[in-house]
Amino acid sequence: MGFAARRHVRAAPVALTGPPVVEVPGRPRLATFPRVTTATLDWYGCATFRLRTAEGLTVMLDAYLDRVPTAAQSGVGVAEVGAELGPQDWILVGHAHFDHLYGAERLAATGARIVGSYESVRVMAAWGVPEEQLVPVSGGERVRLDAATTVRVLPGLHSCVWSRVPFPDADQVCLGEAGGTWQEHQEQLRAMFAGLPDLGPEVAAHLQAASQGERGDGGALVYVVETSEGSLLVQDTAGAWSGLLASESPDVAILAAAGRANRDGEPVQGTLAGFVAEEAGWLRPQRLVLSHHDAWLPGFAGAVDVGPIREAVAAAAPDTEFCELEYASGFRLFDGCAPRS
Ligand SMILES: [Zn+2]
Repeated sequence: MGFAARRHVRAAPVALTGPPVVEVPGRPRLATFPRVTTATLDWYGCATFRLRTAEGLTVMLDAYLDRVPTAAQSGVGVAEVGAELGPQDWILVGHAHFDHLYGAERLAATGARIVGSYESVRVMAAWGVPEEQLVPVSGGERVRLDAATTVRVLPGLHSCVWSRVPFPDADQVCLGEAGGTWQEHQEQLRAMFAGLPDLGPEVAAHLQAASQGERGDGGALVYVVETSEGSLLVQDTAGAWSGLLASESPDVAILAAAGRANRDGEPVQGTLAGFVAEEAGWLRPQRLVLSHHDAWLPGFAGAVDVGPIREAVAAAAPDTEFCELEYASGFRLFDGCAPRS
């Protein structure tokens, strides 16, 4: 079967082949909450989203809700999200940096379980989250979230945050910096961190509060959530193993649009817009949503102009619908980009 022919064949919620399902104790909600609606996806800034499935399961994608006060706010924090979470729900964390993981330790007080890298899970345990709520993964697993929903885990790559141009404009051509070693990248990271105090007292206080003792990004992960209605691929930093993403065909994709992109372990020689479009060309989703493109930390990461990305995606994946969300807004995941009522 050709690539085009399999485009809109939706994955069965329970696959007959593939890695074994990790069964985590918990009450499936399917029998208790029959499907009465359709899945929705809401954005709360940075790479934090809330997925609600047709069966009523809530899956948080990252947990960075409480941000520095000087940044634009979504109006929805840990307190608001936590009030609606319960032990049946889940938090999928893409990597261990604070702008993804910080907040999960408090959301876990609801009993919601956390899927993340071994490093993210180590940090959560250190912050008091009970082991029975933690599911450490590294890629290759399939975790059952409820009777109708599973998530497959893929190894990802973090953007080249060590780059001398860590947050280029979307259409800014970045060349060079290939072939560096871990030691050289650490040296450049130290130089970047040395400049953080210049961002002002509010940012400094926030960074101190949000620092959880993580070791780097802890290993970036990509998730493919497979629901009764379709599949959602989730990426929270602009990096990818090309061979892995090229073999995926989700119905909807969330792709990170910030930073110097990382393809197969080396900085992309080109633009961020070009990289996102390249990924869209591999995945050919029906619908594409960007993440991480907002001004989540003033003075450090400005808002990315999505115009060049929209244009590049339209050329690389002309059949893909490009969804643009405001804070605390969303859409019906498998119906189209129109704002949900
Ligand atoms: Zn990060």
